[in-house]
Amino acid sequence: MEKWRKSLHDSITSPEELGERLGIDVSAFGAVAERYPMRITPYYLGLIEQPGDPIWLQCVPDSRELAVDCLVPDPLDEERLSPVAGVIHRYPDRVVFLVSSECAVYCRFCMRKRHVGCAHGVMAEGAHDAALSYVADTPAVRDVILSGGDPLLLDDGDLEEILGRLRAIPHVEMIRIGTRVPVTLPERITQRLCRMLKRYHPLYVNTHFNHPREITPRSREVCSRLADAGIPLGNQTVLLKGVNDDPDTMKRLMQMLLAIRVRPYYIHQMDLVQGTGHFRTSVATGTAIMEGLRGHTSGMATPYYVIDAPGGKGKIPVLPECVADRGETLLLRNYRGELIEYRDIDD
Ligand SMILES: *Cc1c(COP(=O)(O)O)cnc(C)c1O
Ligand code: SF4
Repeated sequence: MEKWRKSLHDSITSPEELGERLGIDVSAFGAVAERYPMRITPYYLGLIEQPGDPIWLQCVPDSRELAVDCLVPDPLDEERLSPVAGVIHRYPDRVVFLVSSECAVYCRFCMRKRHVGCAHGVMAEGAHDAALSYVADTPAVRDVILSGGDPLLLDDGDLEEILGRLRAIPHVEMIRIGTRVPVTLPERITQRLCRMLKRYHPLYVNTHFNHPREITPRSREVCSRLADAGIPLGNQTVLLKGVNDDPDTMKRLMQMLLAIRVRPYYIHQMDLVQGTGHFRTSVATGTAIMEGLRGHTSGMATPYYVIDAPGGKGKIPVLPECVADRGETLLLRNYRGELIEYRDIDD
């Protein structure tokens, strides 16, 4: 068994094991873990320093995930924008291709909480065929984003087959992989994987660091390995209450990412996804963070702060100067010029 497979095998997947390992009372987590899967790799568990810290909050089930509120499972209408199973086609020239429904660690704030880690979400044999045919039959698609779940939880061979078949489609100009394994399962980034990936350029990898403590000698090493394979690395951070919702933490994170050759790409406002409401911050918190970055540190450390507009209307960058005089509802304008109402909260 490959080392990373062994690590997945050794991961914690039940509240009972977690209670044993951390010596805490987890009786409240049972119902949560039944509804939403949990998995914490040995490596990521080792980053926890104390209960309730930023690493803990991201991976340990929380009874607030079962809160009854007005949030919905799929606010971005991904299901409606899915022409065939496993493809989300929202923008004119690019698609998201869901190649895996598994992740190394199940993030409690996940925007695809409705299906990651669920048995019915597992890609059936042949499911990739319909998605690949869709891409092949849709000449407008020049950019394919592999997502899921985590594409790097596929074996090298399965991933290579998908990459090879995409590369064989003349109008696919570039491929991106969105993955959190550099953060949660660094052993997955083997030399062999990098040798395979570099045969499919232009290939971009966007990873997902949310806190400076996730940048460790291990994650630094594997990001170098990917970068040395000629893969430009970007990062998508989610703005999370109690994890990174202050300007100093976020500035440090952005600076440390550049120091490991990862370019900050997006900071995402939390989507309005059922089971994740306790992570929400106000938009004012996000714009204050952006004000703390712009001009105060390298422009390269300043990503776009985006709201993924409800209803699949697209990611909309929010600038501090745009939301000066606002009420509970923000009016956003997307790339097509449509006005979208966004319901904000008070912190
Ligand atoms: C985020 C996203 C993309 C990619 O958007 P970029 O701004 O090009 O990174 C494409 N499709 C969907 C459905 C998305 O959510
Ligand atoms: S790695 Fe990404 S897809 Fe997987 S649980 Fe975390 S946020 Fe969701």
